[in-house]
Amino acid sequence: MKKNNFYFASSFSDVTMYLKTIPNIKIFSGGTSKSWRDEETNKFIFPNSTLCISHVPEFKTIERNERYIDLGSCITLSEIENIGEKRLPLTLYNAIESISNPFVKNLATIGGNICNENSTLLASLIALDAKLELHSVNESKQIYVKKISSIPNGFILTKIKIPYGNWDKSFFIRIGPERKITKDSYSFVFLANTEKGILNNVSIVFAGENIIQLNDFENDLIGSKLPLSKKIVDEKIENAKHSLYELIKEKNIIFSDILKKQYINLLKYSMLHL
Ligand SMILES: Cc1cc2nc3c(=O)[nH]c(=O)nc-3n(C[C@H](O)[C@H](O)[C@H](O)COP(=O)(O)OP(=O)(O)OC[C@H]3O[C@@H](n4cnc5c(N)ncnc54)[C@H](O)[C@@H]3O)c2cc1C
Repeated sequence: MKKNNFYFASSFSDVTMYLKTIPNIKIFSGGTSKSWRDEETNKFIFPNSTLCISHVPEFKTIERNERYIDLGSCITLSEIENIGEKRLPLTLYNAIESISNPFVKNLATIGGNICNENSTLLASLIALDAKLELHSVNESKQIYVKKISSIPNGFILTKIKIPYGNWDKSFFIRIGPERKITKDSYSFVFLANTEKGILNNVSIVFAGENIIQLNDFENDLIGSKLPLSKKIVDEKIENAKHSLYELIKEKNIIFSDILKKQYINLLKYSMLHL
C-alpha cells in the first residue's frame, strides 16, 4: 500500500532540512486549494511527502513602514483582512474581502493563494508592483510578481513585499463566479494617482488565466487632464483595443471575445469615473 508521509516544520531551519533531505516534498500551507482534492470524489489526496509550514514563526510576520507592508507567506487571509482597510492598500483589502467565506479565509494563506491557479490577489499584487521573497536550500531571491509565472522548482515562497504606492483612486472588480475560483475567474484593478486635475500615474491589470497589462496604453493615459470627456475616453479606448490585440497576437494568448469585451468595458468604466 502507498505510504503518505506528512511532516510539520516548526522553524525555517526545519523547512530547509526537509527540502534538502526529502525529494519532491509538497508544501502545505492552509490546505484549502483544489490541488489537495480528487476532482471526482473531492476527497483529500496527498503525495508521497507533504510538508506543513503553516506554523513556522518566520512565515507569520507582519512588518509595516510608511512605504511597504511585508507579509510572511503563512499569514492567513483573515489575519490580513483584520489589519483593516485603512492600513492596507485598498485594492488588496477589496480583493481579500471578495474571497470565499470566513471559514476558508481563517485557513487560507497569502502564500498559498499566490501559488494557486487564478489567484484573486494576483491583479492587485501586480498593479502594486509587489515582490516575492523565495528560498531554496542554497539560495534566496526576490522577484517581482509580474515577472514570475510559477514558483521555480525547489523554492518556497517566504514573504511578500507590497508597496503602498501613492494611489488615490482604486477600482477592484471581479468577474466570473462569486466567492470561488474557476477558469473563468478574472480580477480587474485600476489604480490612479491624480493631482490638481492631472492623471500623474496609472497601473491597470486584468489577471486570471492570463495577465493583461498594457504598458503603452498606461503611458498614453499619464498626463491627461481630468475628468476625461466621453470623446477622449472613446479615443483612448480605440488605442487600448489596438494594444490588446497586439499583446494577444505577440504572446499567443487565448482570450475569448467575451473576455475582451468585459476588459474593454471595465477600462471604460474606470476612465469615466476618474
Ligand atoms: C470554498 C472556497 C472558495 C474559494 N474562493 C477563492 C477565491 O474567491 N479566490 C481565490 O483566489 N481562491 C479561492 N479559493 C482557493 C484557495 O482557498 C485560496 O487560493 C487559498 O488562498 C489558498 O491558500 P492555502 O494556504 O490554502 O494554500 P494550499 O492549498 O496549502 O496550497 C496551494 C498551492 O500552493 C502551494 N504552496 C502553498 N504555500 C506555498 C509556499 N509558501 N511556497 C510554495 N508553494 C506553496 C501548495 O503546494 C499548493 O500547490 C477558494 C477555496 C475554497 C475551498
